[in-house]
Amino acid sequence: MARIYNFSAGPSMLPEAVLLKAQQEMLDWQDSGMSVLEMSHRGKYFMAIAEAMKNDLIELLSIPENYKVLFLQGGATAQFAMIPQNILNGKSSACYVNTGAWSTSAIKEAGKYCEVKIAASSEDTAYTSIPKAEQWLLDQDAAYLHYTSNETIHGVEFNHVPEVGNLPLVCDMSSNILSRTVDINRFGIIYAGTQKNMGPAGVTVVIVREDLIGLAPKSVPSVFNYAQQAKSDSMLNTPATYNWYLLGLVLQWLKGEGGVAAIEQRNIQKAGKLYQAIDQSSLYSNPVALECRSRMNIPFVLADASLDKEFLSLAEKNGLSTLAGHRSVGGMRASIYNAMPEAGVDALIAFMAEFERTH
Ligand SMILES: *Cc1c(COP(=O)(O)O)cnc(C)c1O
Repeated sequence: MARIYNFSAGPSMLPEAVLLKAQQEMLDWQDSGMSVLEMSHRGKYFMAIAEAMKNDLIELLSIPENYKVLFLQGGATAQFAMIPQNILNGKSSACYVNTGAWSTSAIKEAGKYCEVKIAASSEDTAYTSIPKAEQWLLDQDAAYLHYTSNETIHGVEFNHVPEVGNLPLVCDMSSNILSRTVDINRFGIIYAGTQKNMGPAGVTVVIVREDLIGLAPKSVPSVFNYAQQAKSDSMLNTPATYNWYLLGLVLQWLKGEGGVAAIEQRNIQKAGKLYQAIDQSSLYSNPVALECRSRMNIPFVLADASLDKEFLSLAEKNGLSTLAGHRSVGGMRASIYNAMPEAGVDALIAFMAEFERTH
C-alpha cells in the first residue's frame, strides 16, 4: 500500500510513526490486555495516558503555572460561544479583529452574547492582508480582544503577537498551534481544535489564564463552564478518550522531532520553498501580502482557471491529494502542517513545475 501526500486543511495528515504506534497498540495497550478504546476514563491506565499527554503539551508550549489546560469537545466552533459566555464578566462588549472566514464565524457567534466591536478588518482586501497595528481601534472597556492567528482558508498568518494594552488577548490558534514558538504569557486564552496540527478531530485544546476562570454566570451550562471543566480536569463527563490518546502520540512524536523550535525551522523551510516556486512561476500566484503569508496553508491560483480541474486530477494521480481551495475562495490550497514531510512539499513543487512546462 502506498500512502499519498495529503494536503487537506483538516482533518489532515498525521505522522506515519503515530499511526503505526496506534496500530501496534490497538489490541493491547502496554500489557493492559485491552485497547485504549475500551478503557474507563477514570481507570489507572487512561489516567496515565491523560496525564502524560497534558504534561507533554505543557512542556512543548512552555505553558506557565498560572494557566489551566483543558481538553474539551465541540471544536473551535464551541469556543466561539464559550469565550463570551465565560469571560464577558458583566461587560457589554468585546473587540474582534476580522482577518477572514474564521474570524467572521467567531464574530457572528459572539454577537449573540455581546456587542462586537470590530477593532480592525481586512475584508476590503478580500482577506489578503492584516491591518496595521496603528489602525486598530482598541476599546479598553471591552471584555477582551479576539483574533485568529492563522486564517486557514485565506492563508493569512500573524508573524507576531499583537499589542492590545490591558485587554485580555484571546486567540484562535486552530491551524498554527505547535507550528512556531509563542510566548503563552501574552495571552488570556488560546484555543485550537486538534484536527489541523495536533491529531485527529474531536478534541479542543483550551489554555486559559487563571484570572479568567470562574467569571461565568450561573446560567452557563456546566460542560461549557471553564471553572467546572478545570476543577474536574476536563472529565466533567466522558472525554473523547481515544482522541486524547492519539493527541498524546502526536505530542510524543513532536518531542522526538526536537520540539516546537525545531519543527518551526522545518516549517519555515517547507513554506519558503513552496512560495518561491509559486512566485517564480508565471502560471501560479499567491495573493497574500508578503509579511502575512501563512506557513501552514498556502493558497494559489492558476493564471488560467480553466486548467484547475486538470491540475487537480493529475495531482491526484501523482499521489498529491486534496489540493482544491476552500469552496468559498476557489483555486488551490496546499496545507502543509507539521506532519507534512519536506519530501511531500518537494513532490508538489516538482509536479507544479512539470504541469507548467506541459501547459
Ligand atoms: C478549522 C478551524 C475552525 C473550526 O474548527 P471546528 O473544530 O470545525 O469547530 C476554527 N478556526 C480555525 C482557525 C480553523 O482552522
